[in-house]
Amino acid sequence: MNKEKIDIVVLGAGISGIGAAVLAKIKGFTVFVSDNGSISDDDKAMLTQYDIPWEEGKHTESIILTAGEVIKSPGIPQKALIIQQLLAKGISIISEIEFAKRYTTAKMICITGSNGKTTTTSLIYYTLKNAGLNVGLAGNIGQSLAFQVATCNYDYYVVELSSFQLDDMYDFKADIAILLNITPDHLDRYNYQFQNYVDAKFRITRNQTADDIFIYWNDDPVITAELKKREIQAQQYPFALQNKNNEKAYLQDNQLIFNIPPTTFAMPHEEIALQGIHNLYNSMAAGLAASSINVKKETIRDSFRNFQGVAHRLEYVATVRGIRFINDSKATNVNSCWYALQSMKTPVVLILGGTDKGNDYTEIESLVEEKTHTLIFLGTDNSKLHAFFDKMGKKIIDVSSMKDAVKAAYENANKGETALLSPCCASFDLFKNYEDRGDQFKQCVRSL
Ligand code: ADP
Repeated sequence: MNKEKIDIVVLGAGISGIGAAVLAKIKGFTVFVSDNGSISDDDKAMLTQYDIPWEEGKHTESIILTAGEVIKSPGIPQKALIIQQLLAKGISIISEIEFAKRYTTAKMICITGSNGKTTTTSLIYYTLKNAGLNVGLAGNIGQSLAFQVATCNYDYYVVELSSFQLDDMYDFKADIAILLNITPDHLDRYNYQFQNYVDAKFRITRNQTADDIFIYWNDDPVITAELKKREIQAQQYPFALQNKNNEKAYLQDNQLIFNIPPTTFAMPHEEIALQGIHNLYNSMAAGLAASSINVKKETIRDSFRNFQGVAHRLEYVATVRGIRFINDSKATNVNSCWYALQSMKTPVVLILGGTDKGNDYTEIESLVEEKTHTLIFLGTDNSKLHAFFDKMGKKIIDVSSMKDAVKAAYENANKGETALLSPCCASFDLFKNYEDRGDQFKQCVRSL
């Protein structure tokens, strides 16, 4: 390609990068895509179809550092050399979501939190579809907002946002922002400073006005402490287990109550298809979002009765010789494992381990004590797990493949017990991603 100045450089040719490149091209910009890993054949075909030049296995500085603006994949950390070079030159770096929002007037319902994003995003999308709305699903959930803005014409988007996407958002505004919870995660990307991560999550309220809505979990000590320090412009819709402080959703006599006058309705807790207290919270957030755009209460109730959840989140796999196998591969941090253990009704053999993100296992110590008798450490380096759990006197088995993990769980669990994969860690030491880890688990269980 010639070395003339490029309007938009897209760094990282993942789902978001390809979508951003296509939108930029359609909007008439000169575009260049650069990925220092490899680009899949499908993505190369897409770039060729739209006549977008690209490179892989490198970042050519002479092109990238002349960009008018850079759209960065959320996977690229701030400390990467090319990002530091761009910052030094004062070149604007934004996320795909920020870029896409410039070209749509659709209403944005945005969901963030340390855990529950995908479940809540999927539940809202399912409910809005059932209501007959013209709605797209986008963001961290694996579909590009930019690509849909380029090729579809939705009235609403339900957008799952990770802290990394929020980091590179500036003028974006959520019409409805949902903050589910904040517990330590991804600290390696935030200089091991929890406050930096909290600040990133709160960017979901950025630019909101009194016409907008902020839905949040009012039992979360991190969120409530942070709210005391901040001025939120949006209308606040808190939800909590009990109605203590003008909650807009809460539980009372086993009824899930929604109270956003003039809309008030109740739904028996046991009618919600998703199990577990965490899913009650996710349902409160989803119900508030749907009611606030006037989805009928009958539609919300029907949707919550029928929504079957998302794979790899406390997903039942099979019962083999009386042992229930549960795939919670998406539990990539300690808090999500806490909720998994908390919802277990039988003794548990727990499979955990992987790439540690600065974990503190104290949070699950008492549940591990109470619910498990055997721990299976699945990872290339299990030293942090040993340092924490060895003292508890549980049976501990080290493995380095899913086949051995499932075999060890099968041999050590008794009839009537549960073998739970809820790793607390990222998957990249032994697997492509958490889906690969969960799929391998399911396959190994099915071939027992
Ligand atoms: P995310 O997209 O934020 O990672 P998911 O919906 O994919 O969230 O769920 C990830 C993990 O967290 C799963 O193990 C799930 O069971 C658990 N989880 C879901 N909702 C919550 C919640 N509100 N609080 C804590 N853990 C949750």
